[in-house]
Amino acid sequence: MSPQETAVWTPVETTPATQQQPLCPQVMAPSAISPLAYISTATNYYNDAATETKRAFAKTLIANALQERINSIDYDKCEPGGEDAFFVADLGEIYRQHMRWKRNLPRVEAFYAVKCNPNMTVLRLLAALGTGFDCASKTEIQTVLDMGVSPSRIVYAHPCKTSSYIRYASQVDVQMMTFDNAEELIKIHKFFPNAKLILRILTDDSKSLCRLSLKYGAPLKTTRSLLELASRLGLNIIGVSFHVGSGSYDPTAFVRSVEDARRVFDEATEFGYDLKLLDVGGGYGPDNFESVASLLGPALDKHFPPSVRVIAEPGRYYVATAFTIATHVIARRTVKNDDGVASYMLYLNDGVYGNFSGKLFDHQNPVAKILKHRDEYLYDSPESDARLIKYSVWGPTCDSLDCIDDNCYLPEKVDVGDWLYFTDMGGQFSPLPF
Ligand SMILES: *Cc1c(COP(=O)(O)O)cnc(C)c1O
Repeated sequence: MSPQETAVWTPVETTPATQQQPLCPQVMAPSAISPLAYISTATNYYNDAATETKRAFAKTLIANALQERINSIDYDKCEPGGEDAFFVADLGEIYRQHMRWKRNLPRVEAFYAVKCNPNMTVLRLLAALGTGFDCASKTEIQTVLDMGVSPSRIVYAHPCKTSSYIRYASQVDVQMMTFDNAEELIKIHKFFPNAKLILRILTDDSKSLCRLSLKYGAPLKTTRSLLELASRLGLNIIGVSFHVGSGSYDPTAFVRSVEDARRVFDEATEFGYDLKLLDVGGGYGPDNFESVASLLGPALDKHFPPSVRVIAEPGRYYVATAFTIATHVIARRTVKNDDGVASYMLYLNDGVYGNFSGKLFDHQNPVAKILKHRDEYLYDSPESDARLIKYSVWGPTCDSLDCIDDNCYLPEKVDVGDWLYFTDMGGQFSPLPF
């Protein structure tokens, strides 16, 4: 797809705050994001002036979509749940992230990690942009195949798979899959002996927020015996993968992992394998992507000849910043401290058992902002510390664990019936059922 072809108004979409939990109605807002006729040739696409203009424009459109949806609610007459939380998705942001990827890591093909956000509009957009897909389950594979994506554009990137799912992958011809232990090789040998296997190695992810290596990845001292077993079983190993952990703030972890992968490539030659694929996993944040890319790109070129295909499994990178959630303040409690100073507990209609699950599982800290106070819309208004009032922000369930933020300050006295919003909510969707 050329930039010119996408110089159309892509819809900003408001969707139910969750697809799985039937909390919210599905709404489409006829809004739009910035046209993308112009792609700058500046080296840092992401931070250039043209992109900033588009972002500012996108914000206007997000504001309109939020406002339109809320204005349409008749609080006195709506069905129960008519004021439920809802998302606004800026699909242009996903497109901008894609262009940013291609500009900074031109050698690396992105296979989007479906588990991060399996929203169908997101998946369709990425399919149209030509990404591949990292699927972790039968449902994810089926969802992607049902869009008409070729099975060759899917990597079954789960090192510990259900046997019947391995058979399913064989039936639908999804050949690439990861493994990290001997038992998995024996299962694959039985159910899909011609699969194209990728050995997932364990990496040092001690500086990441979600330490995936606690659960998956072959320690480097085991790779030799795994390669040996695979060759004895006549299995087809095509490459190596790693995942530095989600929310990694250490770009050098990618470089160390590339070096480790190189060692395993060399080891594999001893067992007659000529590996042709390196999968550099996920863990790319929207914030430090340029610094990761500026180390990772050269490391790849240093250690791997152009004949080695390099893919990655970015998840949150693509979707995190694209989704904004709006939540309704359903109740408020005033709390006075010993000096008589008031603070407030705000109860919202979404929480950690809904769309704020990232708070529990992904070490996310969503930041509440005021969207609508009485009759005034305050989306993206400049930060003011004129009159800061202290709050704690809670979800709707009866569980005291359901706390979104136990201590925050907002510039207005939030009322019951007001709306709050949280940005960067795209990467903590409920995954599809396994
Ligand atoms: C979760 C996951 C990803 C995506 O991780 P991000 O940090 O969101 O990029 C990629 N690959 C695998 C195997 C995963 O489990």
